[in-house]
Amino acid sequence: MIKVLIAEDNAVNRELLRELLEGRGYTVLEACDGQEALQMIEEAQPELVLMDIGMPVLDGFAVIRRIRENPRLASLPVVAVTAYAMRGDREKILKSGFDGYLSKPLSPSSLTAELDRLLTKNAQSANQDQYHGGQPAGKDRAAGASSSGT
Ligand code: MN
Repeated sequence: MIKVLIAEDNAVNRELLRELLEGRGYTVLEACDGQEALQMIEEAQPELVLMDIGMPVLDGFAVIRRIRENPRLASLPVVAVTAYAMRGDREKILKSGFDGYLSKPLSPSSLTAELDRLLTKNAQSANQDQYHGGQPAGKDRAAGASSSGT
């Protein structure tokens, strides 16, 4: 089961996200502030984090900075979920280290698209050459097995 951490201080928003994620088969973890989010990332090792920007204790920008400073967490997919929808905010958020951006109110189809994009990113980039080259799937699998054998 793929574990997704929701870091969000608003209980209604957490509940909404939880329902969407559980409906898609993900295991859901919840954190109510930035400090708790960091702790749960270390302890429970989620595969992806959906993070509110405006949170008590540590806000989303402080949390993403600490995540990216940690070599073990540098490649953890983290998506900002926020109502900061003003011009320029998206760029600021992506520059600060988030992998993606979803604006509130949340669109379920955008959420699904982000999860699909980020949770399959590694597999797709590993196979990209083969896709473009049109080589048979069997060759993909052999290449993947030999390069990730250990
Ligand atoms: Mn908030």
